[in-house]
Amino acid sequence: MVLLGAHVSISGSIALSVDRARELGCTTFQIFTRNPRGWISKKLKDEEVEEFVRRRREAGYEVVVAHMPYLPNVASPEALSWRRSVKSLAEELQRCEMLGLDYLVCHIGSHMGKGIERGIAQVARAVNETISRVEAKCMILLENMAGQKNSVGSYFPQIRAILDKVDDQKRVGVCLDTCHLYAAGYDISVKEGLEKTLSEFDESVGLKALKVLHLNDSRGKLGSHLDRHEHIGRGYIGEEGFRVIVNHKSLRGLPMILETPQDEYGGYEVDLEVVRRLLHDA
Ligand SMILES: [Zn+2]
Ligand SMILES: [Zn+2]
Repeated sequence: MVLLGAHVSISGSIALSVDRARELGCTTFQIFTRNPRGWISKKLKDEEVEEFVRRRREAGYEVVVAHMPYLPNVASPEALSWRRSVKSLAEELQRCEMLGLDYLVCHIGSHMGKGIERGIAQVARAVNETISRVEAKCMILLENMAGQKNSVGSYFPQIRAILDKVDDQKRVGVCLDTCHLYAAGYDISVKEGLEKTLSEFDESVGLKALKVLHLNDSRGKLGSHLDRHEHIGRGYIGEEGFRVIVNHKSLRGLPMILETPQDEYGGYEVDLEVVRRLLHDA
């Protein structure tokens, strides 16, 4: 079975995310466990957790992914904001564990002008502190960035350098976002480019560490460093690009999650339909 899904809303209650994923025909899905726009999270209630776990079990979802909120920056060189970010990562990992989620995806972050080495060290320290504080089966996945100014982890050797500094590597993996790859300058829109990218990733990071794929087309051009998601087939990666990506032997078995726009062109149902057709045609 192909694991294909989308980032769905928890509006109303976390348990409702399961129903939303089901209605879309998702075979996996991703959520925020809380409002992603603030620092504060309300404590999870036992009933809330039980209801989510029950519905998920009934629906038979083997893999469910969580995404970190937007504000934390675990690469921050500033003591105060770094400390806050680590607290948030640890809290979030704890919430994921209560909910029985499999992966917690975390954007790697920004070194804010203090240099890539510093950024890499801060991320590794944040991860080490979090995994030593929180017992969890849920893995932390570092997500590649789009090459924005001061970003950490847009390129594979930087991800490798972080993982090398992590104490317990079994608890940390990688999530690759197709839009971010393309914007960072990895040309995955053509077969040779995808092969080259994946072999570079394998040599540097190792394909074994790759646990989740975010499927997003790119509104920005190759190497534009813009993190702007587009509907599948309507961006610069294009339908033919995604046909090769979703059917690639190294990627096909991974949970694939859409984070595409919800706009006048349509919502996830449109993009899911396109990806299913591309999987089917291959
Ligand atoms: Zn993503
Ligand atoms: Zn993005």
